[in-house]
Amino acid sequence: MKRTIAAALITASLIVVSPLAAQRDFSEVEITSEELAPGVAVLFGAGGNMAVSHGEDGTVLIDDQFAPLSEKIETAVAYLGASPVKYVVNTHWHGDHTGGNEHFGSTGATIFAHDNVRVRMSNEQTRGERVIPPSPRAALPVVTYDRGVTLHLNGDTIDVVFVGGGHTDGDSIVRWREKNIVHMGDLYFKIPGWPFVDVESGGDIEDMLFSLDAAINMMDAETKVIPGHGPISDKSELVAFRNTVGEAVTRIRALRDSGSTLEEAQALRPLDSFERGEGFISEDRFIEAVWKSLN
Ligand SMILES: [Zn+2]
Repeated sequence: MKRTIAAALITASLIVVSPLAAQRDFSEVEITSEELAPGVAVLFGAGGNMAVSHGEDGTVLIDDQFAPLSEKIETAVAYLGASPVKYVVNTHWHGDHTGGNEHFGSTGATIFAHDNVRVRMSNEQTRGERVIPPSPRAALPVVTYDRGVTLHLNGDTIDVVFVGGGHTDGDSIVRWREKNIVHMGDLYFKIPGWPFVDVESGGDIEDMLFSLDAAINMMDAETKVIPGHGPISDKSELVAFRNTVGEAVTRIRALRDSGSTLEEAQALRPLDSFERGEGFISEDRFIEAVWKSLN
């Protein structure tokens, strides 16, 4: 079931949103939802995919995109029949997953995230040339964890687990045990291009592969998989993604071991045959991130 919140708004042709987008116009963005199970829905808008768990014990929002979308997100949550957001879980610190924190934190939600999410949001971060200032106090996670935390709500058992990171050093996977749904955060993109290993945020390609394997081990053929970006997926697609990334890393590692420089390896276009297309993360950028991880 797919509901359109405001049909009059332009259908945002997706939305390979750059998490780097700083000055964007969000006025045309619509938030759409797709129910995955009774009481669990995914919300799509601009930025990382969100999930909502709702029922008699309160509403949990997984990730909250960009600050200018907070009211639209509230409207979408209400449209599901859910009460106002009581808990927020951040899958990691990036601004297209935590931009609504200040709003939801200020309106009474308790924010959960990995320890390193709070550390990074509390301190200035750099990405290339760009400097990301510390977040305001209201945006910071209030409950943090190292390995994970389990929420017992709405008849569900929701495991929020750190399985090794890789996109950053604070990635959480969210798993609804009984409903067999997993939100992967940005460990998994179902969009063209390559994965984002944010080395400056403690990301590491080998950690990412380890985390993907750990997540796959939690799944079966019926599991509904929410990628950080892109449409709903499943275990078989995630396995194919993991195998592609693993093979790509093998090729890059072989070039590195043969004595190539990074620039020489990039010039050889070793990943072209995978036909991942042009996306947020180019082949060159992915090779560079893998290179740095392996160093
Ligand atoms: Zn991210």
